[in-house]
Amino acid sequence: MRLSLVVPCYNEVEVIARFHQALTHELTATGRPYEVLYVDDGSTDGTLEALVELAATDESVRYLSFSRNFGKEAAMLAGLRYAGGDAVVIMDADLQHPPELIGRMLTEYERGFDQVIARRNRTGDPATRTLAARAYYWLINKWADVELMDGVGDFRLLSRRAVDGLLELNEYNRFSKGLFAWIGFESILFEYDNVKAAPDRKSRWTFRRLVEYGLDGLLSFNNKPLRMAIYVGLLLTAVAAGYAIWVLVAALLHGVDMPGYVTLIAAITGLGGLQMVMLGVIGEYIGRIYYETKKRPHYLLKQTNMDPSSRVEKAP
Ligand code: UDP
Ligand code: MG
Repeated sequence: MRLSLVVPCYNEVEVIARFHQALTHELTATGRPYEVLYVDDGSTDGTLEALVELAATDESVRYLSFSRNFGKEAAMLAGLRYAGGDAVVIMDADLQHPPELIGRMLTEYERGFDQVIARRNRTGDPATRTLAARAYYWLINKWADVELMDGVGDFRLLSRRAVDGLLELNEYNRFSKGLFAWIGFESILFEYDNVKAAPDRKSRWTFRRLVEYGLDGLLSFNNKPLRMAIYVGLLLTAVAAGYAIWVLVAALLHGVDMPGYVTLIAAITGLGGLQMVMLGVIGEYIGRIYYETKKRPHYLLKQTNMDPSSRVEKAP
């Protein structure tokens, strides 16, 4: 059994050598043949040079380098396409995914699991963040067709058939968390203690990115927000009809007067806002269609030490 490691790297020159050392230590301990596939996602800090150097001294090192920064999703996709192993482990290069867990992942894989998921707990995270995450996952699991879990990220082992399944999903807008859940197969999950990012390192999860990611999760997997627009529209129509009858009856019983300036303004602004929100939802879907129809590649390669024909292409 051969193991492939897929490691997306974006500006990781400071940790890459340390990471590789820790990883190699764990991998040799497993006693299985392996390859480590680093995907340089358009780093500007010399990560590529560091990888080339690693590859020169360690023959298990493969690298792919993008022409610019295409994002972690694209880097993972490239890694999965080129990974040749019977099982693939995806992990971050910044040492937030402890290499010590690989042995345990392999044990579970050998027990027959196709996805072995390492789930980060939230020790040390601010309480507000934890609370927001809990609310979000509650909401998304109520709405989306696939179940998503807090703390479950990209750190996992995938069997060959799970990888092949993922490669069949060729969408441009990739929301891995959902894709992993979508493919199914036997999965097992274990928890590990949250590893804090290096203090000098800014997380890529700014508030704005979190919101965008959250919207992706809601919108990438179904058309329920569109359906919700229909329900809200129906509800409002019913309210309007009820109100109209009430006004009519009141006019017949007590004569006609001209009440309701506040009601009028509230109705106009409220409905206007609601319509904008619904338009936005529709716009989001159209935007996605727009990107999908262009059928652009997810990334462009600049440099690699791999044979380009070793790439696994599934979807048309
Ligand atoms: N990464 C990448 N492309 C990007 C951003 C990040 O390949 O555009 C890699 C990065 O090098 C790291 C992993 O994805 O190995 C996770 O990134 P980061 O630590 O910034 O994210 P976080 O841990 O905050 O989720
Ligand atoms: Mg990190």
